[in-house]
Amino acid sequence: MSIKNSVTMIKGIGPKKASALAKVKIHSIEDFLYYYPRDYEDRRQIKAIGSLCNEDTALIRGKIIRLFSSGYGYTKKSILKLLVTDGTGEIEVLFFHSAYLKNTISKNVDYGFYGNVSSRGSGLQMVHPDFFKWDEEETTGILPIYPLTQGLTQGEMRNWQRIAQDFCQQIPEYLPLDLIRRNRLCSLQYALENIHFPEDLQRIKEAKYRLVFDELFLLQFGLLSVKNQLNKLPNGISFSKNIQSEDFIEKLPYELTVAQKRVIEEIYKDMESKKVMSRLIQGDVGSGKTVVAATAIYKAINSGYQAVLMAPTELLARQHYKSLKQAFQPFDIHVGLLTGSLGIKERKQVLTQVKTGAIQLLIGTHALIQPSVDFYRLGLVITDEQHRFGVNQRDLLSRKGENPDILVMTATPIPRTLAVILYGDLDLSIIDEMPPGRKQTITKTFTESGREKAYEFVRRQVADGHQAYIVAPLIEESINVDAKSAIQLYKELGNKFSNLEIRLLHGAMKQEEKDRIMEEFYSGQVHILVSTVVIEVGINVPNATVMLIENAERFGLSTLHQLRGRVGRGGEQSYCILITEGKTRMSKERAAILEKTDNGFVIAEKDLELRGPGEFFGVRQHGIPEFRLADLAKHIQILETVREEAQNLLEQDPDLIHKNHQNLKNKINITFKNIETLSI
Ligand code: ADP
Ligand code: MG
Repeated sequence: MSIKNSVTMIKGIGPKKASALAKVKIHSIEDFLYYYPRDYEDRRQIKAIGSLCNEDTALIRGKIIRLFSSGYGYTKKSILKLLVTDGTGEIEVLFFHSAYLKNTISKNVDYGFYGNVSSRGSGLQMVHPDFFKWDEEETTGILPIYPLTQGLTQGEMRNWQRIAQDFCQQIPEYLPLDLIRRNRLCSLQYALENIHFPEDLQRIKEAKYRLVFDELFLLQFGLLSVKNQLNKLPNGISFSKNIQSEDFIEKLPYELTVAQKRVIEEIYKDMESKKVMSRLIQGDVGSGKTVVAATAIYKAINSGYQAVLMAPTELLARQHYKSLKQAFQPFDIHVGLLTGSLGIKERKQVLTQVKTGAIQLLIGTHALIQPSVDFYRLGLVITDEQHRFGVNQRDLLSRKGENPDILVMTATPIPRTLAVILYGDLDLSIIDEMPPGRKQTITKTFTESGREKAYEFVRRQVADGHQAYIVAPLIEESINVDAKSAIQLYKELGNKFSNLEIRLLHGAMKQEEKDRIMEEFYSGQVHILVSTVVIEVGINVPNATVMLIENAERFGLSTLHQLRGRVGRGGEQSYCILITEGKTRMSKERAAILEKTDNGFVIAEKDLELRGPGEFFGVRQHGIPEFRLADLAKHIQILETVREEAQNLLEQDPDLIHKNHQNLKNKINITFKNIETLSI
């Protein structure tokens, strides 16, 4: 049997269990080995009952000397009570709702009980311990505790994991031997054995270190090799040194900030050099990234090339289209829009004009990636809100030109060390300054009882000539989720603010309708926009001064920060109102962070801490493999070692052609199978 075989090859795993396993992404026998315990139970020592203390977590072994069940409370739910002894003392063991156990228990047989000890009157008791017939082999030692899902039990999982262990030797070592020695890593096989069934705690440590090292190394090597490939590309475009941006900048209605000017300089330097530019612009919401991108576009087009700008939502693409078309009007630059909702005729027309070069700047959504989109002479590729895209989407777009320069923008400010891992293939520019005159948005949290006050506040802001967003977590009501829906809210508010213009906006609406509503909101005709998170990214209506968020506890910190970034974009004092019933520590903590700071870096770090990197990056940065053990916040030191080693190897054997590197090459290709550029 091979490690690649389906789990159904294991005796006892039928279709039902297989589908439960599929839920935790275990399909093959190999997947078991990479499905790590979330914790361990130390059952190496059997404690004498006579030596137990209150609050111990302990394994005891004993015989049942008395057994009785009884009811309690009005409902007479059954309790099973056992009296257990091992000769050194006695302890009471309680099980609720488990009267049926009575029939399976025999006296004069040894049982094991593992659990928490608490004091009760003058004696001790265990409530709901793990309970099993004594069996030296199966029940002692350090036992793994696996994350489970419906339809799976801990016992089953442990059994199957034991079976999977027999296949460990089929997993080839893929790290080069010298690297393993230098870093004193244990072998992969040893790691995969001891992460599941360790003999002692030291071995868990060794195993974890190795597995974390691997996760980080594979990612880092993969990303660096992309960068390496880009650097190797022979002829990038050297855009004309004679085209500078003064003309364009002069016509802007404001002065650029120092940070914007610096970043533009960095970009121009890249663009003028022969090297293919691949640069990430990081700047908090509202820091003015769009105009920086526009300056790059201006240079590309005036040097005789086309440029393309990809945005994650149709709404944002249209906004960019509108504002850039206007900004480029005096320069006679022809701008086109391509999104999924274009009619067949319009679409055809746009595609033709892109192909002939009549459209010089093409703006759009994912629709830009389609094979039918063909450029005349594409020289600059820009993705806005890069954290919403995968690496491969960016790459597909850039293949539409001949080694075009690449600029990616993101408002998710992440600490530099992490940026290096996540965007290891990119050079980094940071806009760390806000345009002058911005006032910090005031953030306040209200519970349900403060709702009327919050609405009253919205009303006053509108009376002063401003506009407001009200955001709900859902489009429609759902019986499964207890949260406000945009549709329901829109109805309620229609009655409440009957003298104001209110509109509803959500992702499931027809495009024309969305356009019309956004248009009305941009123009100021509409006072209140009730919406879902479709407005999260990029939308820019400077006259809006209130962002009211319903069920704020349902959103992550970064999303809340992004939503808040929709206001405070003009010179007016703006407000963010969080309505939340969240009583958990996490939601209180989140609200407190938002009230205290509007620094995107601080918020991103907190978000990372609270949610963990899996969710922080994993969900959106699709294409990049998820970590199982590695934690970018915790493992900075390993990260640095790994980075050095990856760089080392890349210099020695960039294409992994050496025979000792074939296993690594395979492993990398499998790990990154969803990212085309990473195949080496
Ligand atoms: P983001 O970085 O979030 O994409 P935008 O590019 O949408 O931000 O810019 C936010 C707002 O700030 C826009 O209305 C834009 O016109 C304005 N803006 C950009 N740069 C400046 C500046 N230097 N001075 C004043 N306003 C600016
Ligand atoms: Mg933007």
